[in-house]
Amino acid sequence: MLKEKLIIGLGVTGLSCADFYHKKNIPFKIFDTRSKSFHTKKNNDTRLEGYSIVYEKYDSDYLDNVEQVIISPGLDRSNVIFREIKKRNISISTDIDIFKEYSNTPIISITGTNGKTTVVTMLEHVLKSMRLKSVACGNNGIPPLSIIDQKYDFIILELSSYQLEYMNNFTSYIGLITNIDYDHIERHKSMSDYFNIKLKIFGNVKHSLINNKLCSQLNLNDIRSFGLTEYSKIQINGAIKNDLSYSENKLSYKDQVLNFKGLHNLENILSVLSVTNILHLNFLEVFKYIKNFHYLPHRIELIKSYNNINWYNDSKSTNCASTLAALQYVDEKIILILGGSHKNMNYIALKDMLLRKVKLIIFIGENKNYIKEQLDIKIKTIEAQNMKDVVEIAKNNVIPYDNVLLSPASPSFDMFDNYVDRGNAFKKAVNDFVK
Ligand code: ADP
Repeated sequence: MLKEKLIIGLGVTGLSCADFYHKKNIPFKIFDTRSKSFHTKKNNDTRLEGYSIVYEKYDSDYLDNVEQVIISPGLDRSNVIFREIKKRNISISTDIDIFKEYSNTPIISITGTNGKTTVVTMLEHVLKSMRLKSVACGNNGIPPLSIIDQKYDFIILELSSYQLEYMNNFTSYIGLITNIDYDHIERHKSMSDYFNIKLKIFGNVKHSLINNKLCSQLNLNDIRSFGLTEYSKIQINGAIKNDLSYSENKLSYKDQVLNFKGLHNLENILSVLSVTNILHLNFLEVFKYIKNFHYLPHRIELIKSYNNINWYNDSKSTNCASTLAALQYVDEKIILILGGSHKNMNYIALKDMLLRKVKLIIFIGENKNYIKEQLDIKIKTIEAQNMKDVVEIAKNNVIPYDNVLLSPASPSFDMFDNYVDRGNAFKKAVNDFVK
C-alpha cells in the first residue's frame, strides 16, 4: 500500500500542512482527537471536503501505512497515539520542518515566555518600513506553509515551546529568546525541561541573541545579549550603546525620543534593535520606524479614559510575569481583575507588587480559590461571575486617578474561546457600562 503522511491536529497548522501536501500531490490523511461536530461548528466551510479525516478514535491498523507523522503543537505527548507512534518507530515532524525543507529564505526565529508576538510584529513593521519584504508567522497564527509560495527577504518565525518541542530542524539565520519565566509546567514537567526546550532555538543558527537577564542562569558561549545592565546602561547585540539612554518610558537617541510602554517593552525594543544591528540596518532609520509602531490590542491596551480613570485590557496575560509587567507599568491605585482557567502557576510571585499597588482584586474564573490560597494577603477581594459583573464591581469601587486593569495571569478557556474573546467581552462591558 502507498505510504502516507499522517497529520495529527486539525487546527490552522494541520490545515496548512494538508493544503500544502494536497498542492504537492503528496499522499496524506488527518487524525484529530476532537469530535467531528466540534470541527463542523468551527470550520463550517467546504475546506475539509475531499480530505481523509478520522475523528476521536482510529482503528488498530490506522498507522500501518504511515511513513511520517506531522504533529500540531497543541497535542500533548501524553496522548495515547504517541505510544503507538513510538512503538512503531514512525518519525515525527512539524509544519516548521516541512517549511524549512522547501524554503531557503533566511529565517529569524524568536521564542520566549512573553513578548514573542510583540517582537515579531515590531520587527516585521521595521523591516517592511525599510523595504525588506518580510512576514511574521508561526505561533502568531499565520502558518508558515500558508505563505511559502511568496518571495520574502526574511521570514520572522515566532516559535512557542510547544513547537520547539517537536521540531527537528533548528536552522535559522538568527535565533532570539525574549525572556524565560515560570510557565507551561503542566506540559513540560519542570522548569529545567522548559528552559532546555527554549534553548533548542540556538540549535543551528548563525547569530544568537538572548535577554541579558538570562545570562547568569545559563552557561552559554557565542551568544550576544540585549537589555538593561546593572548600571542602567543599554545593551544591544552584546555591546553597550552609550548614545542611547532612557527615563520614564522614554528612550532617547541623539535628538530623537521614542515613547515605550513599560520596561518590558523597552526590552522588546532592544531585542528588535539587536536583530537590525546584525542585519546592518541604519540605526537612526530603525529608531524612527519603531517610534510609529502601534502596540497590539489585548496587551495593556488602554480602552477607556473617563473621569480620570483609565481602563486597561491585558487579556493576553496568561502568566505571572506578564501580569507583573502590567502592574509595573500601570500607576497605583489599581483595581486588578485576576483569574481564569486553571494552570500550574506560582502566584506568590505577584504578592509584593499587589501589596504595593493594588487596592482591590476582582476574581474571575475557575482558579480563583487556587490563587487566593496561594496569595493569602490582606487586600480586599470580590468575586465576579461574568464581565458585566466585573465592570459593575469595578465601577462601584473606583475613584478618580485609580486605574482598572484586566490582567488575568491565567488562560481564558474556562469562560471564553480564547484571550481575544475574553478581551473583547471586557471591552464591550466597559464601553456599555462606563459612561
Ligand atoms: P507572547 O506572544 O509571548 O504571548 P505577547 O507580545 O503577545 O507575547 O504578550 C503577551 C503578554 O505578555 C501581554 O500581557 C504583554 O503585555 C506581556 N509582555 C509583552 N512583552 C513582555 C516582556 N518582554 N516581558 C513580560 N511581559 C511581556
